[in-house]
Amino acid sequence: MRHRQIAVVGAGMAAARFTAQLLARDPGAAVTLFGDEPHAPYNRALLADVLTGRYQADAIGLPAPEHPGVHVRTGVEVTAVDTAAHTLELADGSFAAYDTLVMATGSNPVLPPIRNLHCTSNTGEGGELKQGVHAFRTLEDCARLAEAVPGATRAVVVGGGILGVSAARALAALGLPVEIVHQAPYLMERHLDEEGGAALHRALAGLGVAVYPENRAKSVGGTDRAEGVVLANGYRLDADLVVLACGVRPRVGLARAAGLDVRTGIVVDDTLATSAPDVYAIGDCTEHAGLVHGLAGPAWEQADVLAAHLSGADAAYRGSRVFARLTAGPVEIAAFGEVDALPGTADVIRLADPTRGSYKKLVLRGDRLVGGILVGDLATVGALTHAYERDEPVPEDPLHLLITQGAPQ
Ligand SMILES: Cc1cc2nc3c(=O)[nH]c(=O)nc-3n(C[C@H](O)[C@H](O)[C@H](O)COP(=O)(O)OP(=O)(O)OC[C@H]3O[C@@H](n4cnc5c(N)ncnc54)[C@H](O)[C@@H]3O)c2cc1C
Repeated sequence: MRHRQIAVVGAGMAAARFTAQLLARDPGAAVTLFGDEPHAPYNRALLADVLTGRYQADAIGLPAPEHPGVHVRTGVEVTAVDTAAHTLELADGSFAAYDTLVMATGSNPVLPPIRNLHCTSNTGEGGELKQGVHAFRTLEDCARLAEAVPGATRAVVVGGGILGVSAARALAALGLPVEIVHQAPYLMERHLDEEGGAALHRALAGLGVAVYPENRAKSVGGTDRAEGVVLANGYRLDADLVVLACGVRPRVGLARAAGLDVRTGIVVDDTLATSAPDVYAIGDCTEHAGLVHGLAGPAWEQADVLAAHLSGADAAYRGSRVFARLTAGPVEIAAFGEVDALPGTADVIRLADPTRGSYKKLVLRGDRLVGGILVGDLATVGALTHAYERDEPVPEDPLHLLITQGAPQ
């Protein structure tokens, strides 16, 4: 009997999870992953650890199950989707047919509006990025950055969100003086409150990372090679390494050209179905209930639901309880939920220990945990995650969720 052919565009974290879950539920499934990177799927969230040398590149692989029904085609870009004919066009001009299509195209790094990011000697603006200017999204980006670090003397990271902080931490661990330029008033403002941002700022200073909040990088100095970054206030930071960490945007060009409903991301319903028949989407490229995420947790939850749905189970995706977490380094952070609940709408417990560089906050509504921050001491993160994700009543004395001794793990 011919099995239904499932094609997945993108061989990243969502695709890997989907394939493993689908095979676990339906061992007869036939899945082909088309990925434009030269690698089989890998855990992108561990790239900073590859940069610091904590992991080898091959240790972060997310191999697809060894199974006759699973094919992973790497280095293959899908250039067009014909949703009526149920075919994909590939960059080499060949075609592949599908019965069911899963778009898992991830996201692209946002290139900030900074003058002279590109080489200016031959091509003017818009050519190659200047030598020394790096994005940080793929294993290739990571390898290029690792190659550049030994010859570099100073680094500037543009963007102080989770990605920028992760990159800065890794570069500092490699012995480089690092400066972060961040537009918002404090670091990781999408995930932390102001005090948490300040605690992180102090902790990074201890690693030799300087932070310039409420500042914007205006231009990159140098002709073909980065020599520094000029800020909007006119201040110049010398740097021969510039890392762009200004967020990501869902990669939706292919879906849009195929006529799928796309807003910021590819619009999906609770079964992860797009507007086209037999076409689904999961991961960073999606928009569900008006939300795009750009984090691994929601990508995996969507992959799980779609695998269940396509195996005939009654499964629905109702959104994700998002956790931002930066672990395994000298400054660890976890944050989730309503960290800035308005006074009077929730109870707030804070523990700040500037000497030891930790800051902890719980936001409670009644007996439920609705938000939290841990900076510098993640000893109780397991208990917090448990209480938040399961929406279970917190202990009589919620301080136990913040203090190490006797804390349930
Ligand atoms: C440095 C870094 C650190 C991160 N840290 C964290 C973290 O700590 N916690 C967290 O939750 N999240 C983190 N993230 C985000 C997390 O990696 C993403 O949310 C996750 O990878 C999303 O999975 P995805 O499969 O949707 O996209 P991806 O993993 O990006 O996979 C998409 C794949 O599709 C390929 N593709 C796109 N279009 C095509 C096409 N037309 N043809 C063929 N292939 C195509 C892409 O090249 C890519 O390989 C981090 C990301 C980065 C870059």
